[in-house]
Amino acid sequence: MGAALPEPQSISHALDAEAFKHVADVLVEEAGVHPMLHRMFVAPIVESGIIRGVIVESKAGREAILAERVIDATGDADVVARCGAPTFFTPKSEMMSASVMFSMCGVNKSRFIEQVKADPQTYKDWAGNGEWDITTDGKEDDMFSPFLRKPFKQALAAGILPANLATIAGTWGTVSDQGDLTYLNMVHLNVDGTDPDDLTRGEMAGRRQAMLAVAALKGFMPGCEDAKLRNFGMTLGIRDTRKIDAHYNLREGDVRGEGRFEDSIGIFPEFIDGYGLLILPTTGRYFQVPYGSLLPKGIGNLIVAGRTIGGDKTSHAAVRNMMCCAVSGQGAGVAAAVSLKSRASFETVNIAQVQAELRRQGARLH
Ligand SMILES: Cc1cc2nc3c(=O)[nH]c(=O)nc-3n(C[C@H](O)[C@H](O)[C@H](O)COP(=O)(O)OP(=O)(O)OC[C@H]3O[C@@H](n4cnc5c(N)ncnc54)[C@H](O)[C@@H]3O)c2cc1C
Repeated sequence: MGAALPEPQSISHALDAEAFKHVADVLVEEAGVHPMLHRMFVAPIVESGIIRGVIVESKAGREAILAERVIDATGDADVVARCGAPTFFTPKSEMMSASVMFSMCGVNKSRFIEQVKADPQTYKDWAGNGEWDITTDGKEDDMFSPFLRKPFKQALAAGILPANLATIAGTWGTVSDQGDLTYLNMVHLNVDGTDPDDLTRGEMAGRRQAMLAVAALKGFMPGCEDAKLRNFGMTLGIRDTRKIDAHYNLREGDVRGEGRFEDSIGIFPEFIDGYGLLILPTTGRYFQVPYGSLLPKGIGNLIVAGRTIGGDKTSHAAVRNMMCCAVSGQGAGVAAAVSLKSRASFETVNIAQVQAELRRQGARLH
């Protein structure tokens, strides 16, 4: 649908995040899903330890949506937490940073790419006085990374950035023929994504920092001289809040040691990004994602998908990656459908039937 284009700096394709919204709408319509946007989950309906639906609030007021199965895909395990089921919460001081993402337009693509090629940055360059202090496997150190720190260092020296914003540095996504420089992941904030006051403060502080970053790029990154802010991300980007206490909580050894599970619902490479660890998926090594890591303890008819599945910090740095969220999303959806059709609970569903359906859909499980 034309919503992914080759990147000028790599052999990858870049998603056009705006056009992808339309692609997602089409996928939802094609699948026959009844979409219900513009509603905020506010409370679960729980009877005898089993969730029977949710209460949402919207412009229309309060509604109850009854459901035989509920999938919590809030990223923060909001439904699980509100049910009173156990969750783990990363202490704020240890949380992965939150980001206000932004894009620029009016970038001179050829000048920008010339500069990137003249002074290629690597994953080793992530380490240093900015946001990241990283450990790699070594194999990442000399690999090209679409990373920018030098223009911000120059802006600090020139007084365009205040001294307390040495944290501004990071990755860019792609630059289009039209001069859009997208997914500028430069702003890093310590924000508790479950606290609305913190979210408010972080979002506004992040926008302020992003404006300074734009000024720094205009001043010191060739190709950006005549560029301007194109847009901020739709909302503050949160990486890390609650994790469920699952029937199986993934461990560092699973994601770094090619974990194998009888109840696998999909596979994911050894791709770890967070808490100071950066391992890129270049080896073919992978782990299996166990069904048990999607199942919260202490509440029936509820399953989770996405970054909030059960596990320790290092496993979070793996499963939070978007493609792994897609793996757990497909697993949760198929498990819900199979459990409904077979009149079994999430705990007692026949995992072989879930796996058979996933395989029929083309998922690789082992
Ligand atoms: C700045 C940033 C950059 C990243 N870069 C990369 C990257 O380059 N590659 C990569 O693989 N991963 C990256 N990640 C990680 C990845 O994007 C996320 O971990 C992943 O998208 C999480 O998916 P999810 O479905 O669990 O949650 P989300 O994508 O956060 O989806 C949760 C959805 O639930 C909705 N929601 C939440 N609470 C409620 C509620 N109470 N009621 C109604 N709706 C609600 C939200 O609005 C949202 O739409 C990045 C993350 C961030 C923040």
